[in-house]
Amino acid sequence: MNVLKFGGTSVGSSENINQVINILENYAKTEPLICVVSAVGGITNKLLKSGELAQNKDERYITVFKEIREAHLNILSELISDQNSTAKEYLETKLQALKSLLDGIYLINELSPKTTDKLVSFGELLSSYIITEVLKERGNNVIRKNSQELIITDSNFTKAEVNFDITNANIQSYFSDKNQSITILPGFISKSENGEQTTLGRGGSDFTAAIVAAALKATRLEIWTDVSGMYTANPKLVKQAYPIKNLSYQEAMELSHFGAKVLYPPTVQPVLDYNIPIHIKNTLEPEASGTVISNEYTNAKTTVARGISHIDNISLLTLQGNGMVGIPGFSKRLFETLAIEKVNVILITQASSEHSICFGISEDDIVKAEKAINLAFANEIALHKIDPILVEKNLAIVALVGDNMKNHQGVSGKLFSALGKNNINIRAIAQGASEKNISTVISQNDVKKALNTIHERFFEDQNKQLNVFITGVGNVGERLVEQIKQQRKFLKEQLKINLRVIGLSDSRKMIFDDSGLSLKNWKERLENGEQATLQDFLERVKTFNLRNSIFVDVTANESVANMYEAYLRESIAVVACNKIACSSNLENYQNLKYLSRKYNAPFLYETNVGAGLPVIDTLNNLIASGDRVTSIQAVLSGSLNFVFNNFNDQTKFHDVVKQAQAEGYTEPDPRIDLSGVDVARKILILARESGTDMNLEDIQNNSFLTKANLDSDSVHNFYQTLIDDEDHFQKLYASAKSKNCQFKYVAEFNNGQAQVGLKEIPVGHPFYNLEGKDNIVMFYTQRYPEQPMIIKGAGAGADVTASGLFSDIIRIGNN
Ligand code: ADP
Ligand code: ASP
Ligand code: MG
Repeated sequence: MNVLKFGGTSVGSSENINQVINILENYAKTEPLICVVSAVGGITNKLLKSGELAQNKDERYITVFKEIREAHLNILSELISDQNSTAKEYLETKLQALKSLLDGIYLINELSPKTTDKLVSFGELLSSYIITEVLKERGNNVIRKNSQELIITDSNFTKAEVNFDITNANIQSYFSDKNQSITILPGFISKSENGEQTTLGRGGSDFTAAIVAAALKATRLEIWTDVSGMYTANPKLVKQAYPIKNLSYQEAMELSHFGAKVLYPPTVQPVLDYNIPIHIKNTLEPEASGTVISNEYTNAKTTVARGISHIDNISLLTLQGNGMVGIPGFSKRLFETLAIEKVNVILITQASSEHSICFGISEDDIVKAEKAINLAFANEIALHKIDPILVEKNLAIVALVGDNMKNHQGVSGKLFSALGKNNINIRAIAQGASEKNISTVISQNDVKKALNTIHERFFEDQNKQLNVFITGVGNVGERLVEQIKQQRKFLKEQLKINLRVIGLSDSRKMIFDDSGLSLKNWKERLENGEQATLQDFLERVKTFNLRNSIFVDVTANESVANMYEAYLRESIAVVACNKIACSSNLENYQNLKYLSRKYNAPFLYETNVGAGLPVIDTLNNLIASGDRVTSIQAVLSGSLNFVFNNFNDQTKFHDVVKQAQAEGYTEPDPRIDLSGVDVARKILILARESGTDMNLEDIQNNSFLTKANLDSDSVHNFYQTLIDDEDHFQKLYASAKSKNCQFKYVAEFNNGQAQVGLKEIPVGHPFYNLEGKDNIVMFYTQRYPEQPMIIKGAGAGADVTASGLFSDIIRIGNN
């Protein structure tokens, strides 16, 4: 004999009920079966809602009642032939009885737990009736038995305790002489020994099925629901979660106790005693293999962690005080007090100092618990031996479960470091001596992020999700988005990096999608996005609270650079091609580096020097491996190279600069390049990365511009002065030409001193043949004293800069 239980969704529509009937008819061909059904999906909640409204003298209870009525009548009429008027009449009579009960509650405006149970029992009574009628009409040998006549409990309404002696005897006796191929039982509902209607607690239909399966020593118990098994984490919150093929009873129990709603926690115990396996299956996808929970399965050699579950709305209560130390009996009194108040303690941690006891309970129980404890310890509190109980709200428990965790070292370390890296603060930790479960208490706001972080760390086989927020979609930003779009599939398949762009903004508009922007028509969508400010953008990134978040600055804007600190403080990584932060005052630069270390948030800016060339990374590797830089000689301005490679006695200086700007080789303000400021910033960054503390003012800037060029107060005026001073530039050119030299704008760093300026480079010098927008950097170090380490290649341009940013992002992914 098999016992099958179908949940609310499975019987939530005529379509799904048809599916249930197919499954049942298939089974019934080979052996008799018992089918336990829940109320139609959502009806239990509606019954409770209508009762609450009626109790509060709110006439809207009638509207809710009507919804309940409609739902049932609709299902019935869709499944039963018009000729079958008895079924409809029966249902109407039952619904009328429900209406009378609600009217009664409204009249006396009172809803006791006892009446609540009477009220919610309608859900299962109605659904089981409908299903039985449909099966009958289709010619099945079916009978319905009211479980209230079988399952006998105490009078603890809304969550009654089963009297197994009477219940088992009832079930065994009832089924001893039945020969129906299908027996339908309503789940969840029961009666007390005094004959009052009781229920087994929310989600209790699973338990009904387990009680029946155990009493009859069924071959197996099948829980049919709306997901294909017990997942590695709640699939509604963790997209990458997947069904667990096999679980031990203990693992299933831990997972369900800590919130995996797919199985009502008390369900496991009765069947465990008889070794009856539980199959969790999906009504909407019956072919899927689902989860098998049994003793057969020992996972000695398989994965250590099996699943993650969580409980929302937890409060942490702490009882503390010097008067507790070394004095026995405090815990006993504390937990007795809670037991008397029927407060369920979900988790306990006690420091070995015995100075405090900390425990987690449901938020619903706070008032009750706080009052009772303060009363029970009133004396000690008055004498200042202990403090009044401390309550922290808005917390949640996240638990990692696996029988085998005890045999592996480092599981908790891995768990805590994954959470820490993502700035998830752990308020309390509990690990049972059996080590089947490590529980952490965290802020309610962090639940989704924590589940996904832990899931990625333990269940995704090196998969890593990166959540990217890009500010600035000019030339470079646009290329970056396109490159990401192009490479996404490759990254996922080859590097196991799931790169998602969650937010995009320019200076005016911003768009977001927490499941990842599709990047199709992103420009158009950004155009129609919401109003952007830097602060709002930050707030949104914070609110999404996604793991591995990366803020990418693709602007040249100082206000954006000023935001890095706030991002790093949230443990959000920063990737920037914007040089302003790293070339700002030393204190700010050092502070950002410090925050990056402190909050475990990478701060990468490879593109600050040489665009996509690996200049900073190479330098960092030299230093990290113990080398010391003695000198740096470099040509670092793609824009100035372009200008001086194209300027001669046949062209005009003004026109060449204009062209460089039009082709995207200069900063938006060309004065930053021409004045040498941009190059000075770059050599400053290299000097700092080499370990020399200096500021921009310390760099000698030998400008080749005229005073008028330098004094111009706008880009427009600047161009005008270039026209006026054409002579000056032609003279410079003539001088270099006469010596057979090439002009290069050179940055130098020697023994703690740095300077930048235009230099006449003779034939044969490594800089002489530098073409187009190429950059070159020569590092002279202790290991490279005569022949420098040289890095050379395109050092400007949207594509290479974008690819440099992209590499920084991937570097974070590989970390
Ligand atoms: P039923 O009405 O069939 O009893 P429930 O709503 O009680 O269904 O339980 C199924 C739901 O449990 C799923 O839809 C899912 O949202 C939730 N759930 C939470 N944690 C898990 C988990 N680890 N695995 C599967 N489902 C889970
Ligand atoms: N209908 C009840 C509830 O919603 C019992 C169940 O579905 O298991 O809690
Ligand atoms: Mg359920």
